This record gives sequence, C-alpha cells and structure tokens, in this order.
Amino acid sequence: DDGLAGKVAVITGGASGIGRALALAYARAGVTSILGYHPGDPHDPTAAVADVESAGGRALAIPADVSDPAAVRTLVETAIGEFGRLDIAVANAGILRRAPISEMTDERWDDMLSVDLTGVLRLVRSAAEKMGEGGAMVAVSSIAGGVYGWGDHAHYAAAKSGVLGLIRSVSVELAPRGIRANAVIPGLIETPQSLDADNSLGPDGLAKAGRSIPTGRVGRADEVARTIRFLTSDDASYITGQQVIVDGGLTVR
Ligand code: NAD
Repeated sequence: DDGLAGKVAVITGGASGIGRALALAYARAGVTSILGYHPGDPHDPTAAVADVESAGGRALAIPADVSDPAAVRTLVETAIGEFGRLDIAVANAGILRRAPISEMTDERWDDMLSVDLTGVLRLVRSAAEKMGEGGAMVAVSSIAGGVYGWGDHAHYAAAKSGVLGLIRSVSVELAPRGIRANAVIPGLIETPQSLDADNSLGPDGLAKAGRSIPTGRVGRADEVARTIRFLTSDDASYITGQQVIVDGGLTVR
C-alpha cells in the first residue's frame, strides 16, 4: 500500500505540463488535488480538473500566483477548509526566460527569483504550518540548476539551484515532525515550457536534443509526475532531503 488513497495535495502551476500530469496521477491513486494556477495564464485550469474527473478523481482549481504570498497561503488554507487536511505540497510552478548575462537586469533577475525560488519558499512555509506527521513536499528544480550548465539562463539556473539548498535545509528542519521534503530534477521534458521556442528549445530543438539523449527521446510530463507521486507516497517513507534526476540519462553520458 503506497498510503496515498484519501490524501489531499496542493500543487502550484497545476494547469499545464507536469502539474496537470501530476493531478491525473494523483487521481488514479485516490489523492484529491488543489491546483493553484496563474490567473493570467493562457492554460485553462478547467482542462486539468476535467482530466481528474474523467479518471474518477477530485480536484479544485484555485487562482494562486506564487509571487503573491497571500495567494499561496489561501491555496493551502483551501485544502484545510474544503477537505480538512493537507498531506502533500508540490512546488511545481515555474517560468523559464532566456536572458544572456548582457541583458540580465536586476528586474529580470528579481522577477525570476520571485517565482522560481521564493515561490517555492512561500508554498513550503505555508504548507509546513498546516501539515502534520506523514506530510510530504516536493519541489521541482531542473538540470539547469542541479548538474548542467545552460547558457543564457543564469537567473533560472540560480533559482533552480537555490531550490535544492532550500529543500535540503527544510528536510532537516521538518524531519522531527515526520514531514519529508525532496526535489525532482527534470531533464528535457516536452511541456508548454520547453515547447516555447523564444525561451527554451522549441519543438525542433527538442526533437534534435532528444536524439542525443541516451534514451533517444525527451521525457513526458507523466514520467516526472509519477516520480513525484512516488516521492510523496509511503513507498518513499525513509527518503528525505534528496534529489531525483529524471532525464533519460542526459546528464550521465
Ligand atoms: P508549464 O509551463 O506547463 O508549467 C509551469 C506552470 O507554472 C504553468 O501552468 C504556469 O502557468 C505556472 N506558473 C508560472 N508562473 C506562475 C506563477 N507566478 N504563479 C503560479 N503559477 C505559475 O511547464 P512544465 O515544464 O510543466 O513546468 C513545471 C516545472 O518543471 C517548472 O518549475 C519548470 O521550471 C520545471 N522544469 C521543466 C522542464 C522541462 O523540460 N519542461 C525541465 C526542468 C524543470
């Protein structure tokens, strides 16, 4: 028994990509999801909720910009208010912007860190307040922050690298309360973020990069989602403070 059935999860950036795939993976495991979404986002969160419902699960979509601490607090309070518990928090929301160092203004740097790093802190902080024994958190980093140098993305790399230190520290702090915290480090995963040719590789770049990955392809959102599901389940009950790289072997060759 993975212990997931009947649990309640909060997922930031839940309208698309990995977050949306995670809500579906949780639905299949009997977990109810509260999906935070960026109110200005083009992705429609009702599609993610519909996926969950067609799998026989339950999900709520709540506007929550992770650069707004009050909105993140409300997201967490919704889990308690609607379902009476919070067992899982997944800090998945993130932006990717291309900016060579010559164009890296303080403003661009600060905007990135507010979403991709401080956004993680905001969820971890609010969730830690409400979670009890058996709680689990996961933050989504990136190979660009974990192990791989990617030019033109210094702010993204710094934020994603910061996430790893943040998680390592809070895992120690929360372990005595029976709460675990881990990070996943995706490689190249086909999602709206990586398909954006202005800020990432785009469809052609992804197809080309996929051929040089040992597995011969880029990853799917559900492959990262199932790793997160594992880390937040009782199957990972003695795993905390760790980083799991999900990259098809990209960084080991
Ligand atoms: P995605 O763009 O589909 O998902 C990111 C989600 O975050 C979107 O739904 C977006 O609306 C949301 N978001 C953006 N800013 C937000 C804000 N301020 N508040 C709340 N939500 C916000 O792409 P994805 O690939 O599924 O991204 C999920 C996570 O995975 C991100 O943290 C991303 O950096 C990370 N990641 C992705 C890849 C990849 O190759 N796709 C690789 C490494 C890491």
